[in-house]
Amino acid sequence: MRDQFNRDIHYLRLSVTDRCDFRCRYCLPRSHRGFAVPKAWMTPKELARIGGIFAALGVRHIRLTGGEPLVRAELPDIARRLHELPGIEDLSLSTNASRLAKFAGVLRDAGVSRLNVSLDSLQAKVFERLTGGKLHKVLAGIDAAIEAGFSPIKINMVVMRDVNDLEVEGMVRFCRERGLTLRFIETMPVGDAGREAQNHYLPLPVIEDRLRQVHQLTPAAMHGSGPARYFRVDDSELRIGFITPQSQHFCATCNRVRLGVTGDLYLCLGQEDKVALGRMLREGADDEQLSQAIIEGLRHKPERHEFLTAPTAILRPMSQLGG
Ligand code: SAM
Ligand code: SF4
Repeated sequence: MRDQFNRDIHYLRLSVTDRCDFRCRYCLPRSHRGFAVPKAWMTPKELARIGGIFAALGVRHIRLTGGEPLVRAELPDIARRLHELPGIEDLSLSTNASRLAKFAGVLRDAGVSRLNVSLDSLQAKVFERLTGGKLHKVLAGIDAAIEAGFSPIKINMVVMRDVNDLEVEGMVRFCRERGLTLRFIETMPVGDAGREAQNHYLPLPVIEDRLRQVHQLTPAAMHGSGPARYFRVDDSELRIGFITPQSQHFCATCNRVRLGVTGDLYLCLGQEDKVALGRMLREGADDEQLSQAIIEGLRHKPERHEFLTAPTAILRPMSQLGG
């Protein structure tokens, strides 16, 4: 699949739920009410059908995301079905890891090979204030993922001024000791919580400069479909990545589209345009019609997001589409 800017779209981020057991300050407001009703969720079978159509169109990588994917009991079934689709070479998962201790092995067996785990603080109190979750559960989840053999495991840290920016060095140590990859992310003004978090926005070049004062950072390659710029730290195995949607946007290399839990296809995280694939499917569309709707929808994929020029544009919380 190529869009009108000749970008090769081969990556589908699939949100299996818009619900979450956390309430991260930059993502999902406590007051949020508009969750999709269960009967509107795409079933595992429907997701496999839509996934198969994307695979036939050239998608090779699917990431399961949320909300928190592990709050959906059918996640292992969904993973197994997507893993079995011809053409899907890579199945990955983004999680807050709160329930991973129990499910790491099951998900590995279901065909998930790579994991991204959100972890913004290593201090239990800060972590709880920031996410509403318990740090010890997340750490147990990460240990279980290492044990289960996921590789690589990438830790995602949203860096915020006066919240957790002084924890960067501690996070480097944590990841180095455990053989994890570490990625720093700039806040994005998506939804009310994301816009609120802009008060703590910290351009990542500041963190890069700080780290360079104590470490040697050498540009490095890293497997994955994402926009991070990676560096090797000193002579260690540790790779750190910078994801900079605001300070250095990366839209020219965008390779992805996103599917919400009710089967709405979104062409860009920074845009409200969507194609109601789920509704079409339930109204009886055949594979050819769904395939055409995807191709037609791609024509509306914008050249770049407008986080900076129109920061109030996106009303839905980040949890609805999973980052
Ligand atoms: N619940 C899973 C998790 O936390 O990894 C998957 C969904 S979560 C929405 C995906 C990613 O989006 C996480 O790494 C999270 O930190 C990031 N995220 C959420 N809101 C954000 C925001 N306003 N700015 C930057 N990153 C955000
Ligand atoms: Fe939930 Fe992930 Fe959003 Fe945190 S970032 S509220 S864990 S969906």
